[in-house]
Amino acid sequence: MPEPTYDFFDVHVLRTRRLSATLLRVVLGGPGLSRVVSGGRDQRLKLFLPQDGQERPILPDVLDIDWYPRWRALDPEVRGVMRTYTVRDVRSEPVEVDIDFALHGDTGPASRWANRAVPGDRVTLLAPVVPDNGGVDFQPPDGTDWVLLCADETALPAVAGILEWLPAGTVVKAWVSVGDPGDRIALPTKCQADVTWVTRPAALPEAVAAADLPPGTPYAWLAGEAALVRDVRRHLVGSRGFPRPAVAFAGYWRRGSSEDALLSVT
Ligand SMILES: Cc1cc2nc3c(=O)[nH]c(=O)nc-3n(C[C@H](O)[C@H](O)[C@H](O)COP(=O)(O)OP(=O)(O)OC[C@H]3O[C@@H](n4cnc5c(N)ncnc54)[C@H](O)[C@@H]3O)c2cc1C
Repeated sequence: MPEPTYDFFDVHVLRTRRLSATLLRVVLGGPGLSRVVSGGRDQRLKLFLPQDGQERPILPDVLDIDWYPRWRALDPEVRGVMRTYTVRDVRSEPVEVDIDFALHGDTGPASRWANRAVPGDRVTLLAPVVPDNGGVDFQPPDGTDWVLLCADETALPAVAGILEWLPAGTVVKAWVSVGDPGDRIALPTKCQADVTWVTRPAALPEAVAAADLPPGTPYAWLAGEAALVRDVRRHLVGSRGFPRPAVAFAGYWRRGSSEDALLSVT
């Protein structure tokens, strides 16, 4: 039997901190969290949230490798709400995990929960316990000369993690679409990073299309709202001649669809 790469952790909110107009950092702690190992970059995890009126998320009694069909079999009105987020940071002393939420009002359970989060609030994580866990998409191959990043606020935590992780001197061109000039955050890095903030209604794909790109072998990573990611990918592959395998992309959310709706069609 292979060793599990992810495990469940019952955790609680230690504190929250506003990072920008839209981003809220939620710092989590709890028993066993020292086993969480992040691969860095855009490391993903699953978050299970209580339904309104519950004190903690309801999950199947047995949480082994077959947890997913068991969770799906529970009443959707009762079972913990599952959402996907980025592990922004894991610290060891004290043991803490940071998740940065792009708040979008009360339209979704995760944003609604984060908006109201106070110390002691309980959630469950399905988090990585080994570095090579299949939950990191940013994988530039050997021979990459420069890196192109495109993101919106939901993928800004991943962009911050990628810029922290990349070796000193890496040439990076990044575009980040935000809704408010107050969404700009510091992005510490040892890279030669050129970050363009595109405040909506200005369109990120148009900003990329108008740019001069560096010479050499590119690796692109695109994440955020699904249509934004689709448009930039089309441009890079169709107009700029990027080889398909050199473009990693992920729709982090889809306008008009909750993550539950996206799950039920996959
Ligand atoms: C691998 C991965 C990593 C991710 N990491 C992060 C992260 O670190 N931080 C983060 O904030 N998000 C992240 N996301 C995106 C997040 O999972 C979605 O935004 C999710 O839909 C939020 O859940 P919700 O319950 O708030 O809204 P849902 O119930 O899923 O959706 C309700 C409504 O809100 C809309 N909506 C969802 N997100 C947004 C948004 N940001 N702005 C405006 N409208 C929205 C939907 O289209 C829908 O109409 C990540 C997604 C993936 C796949």
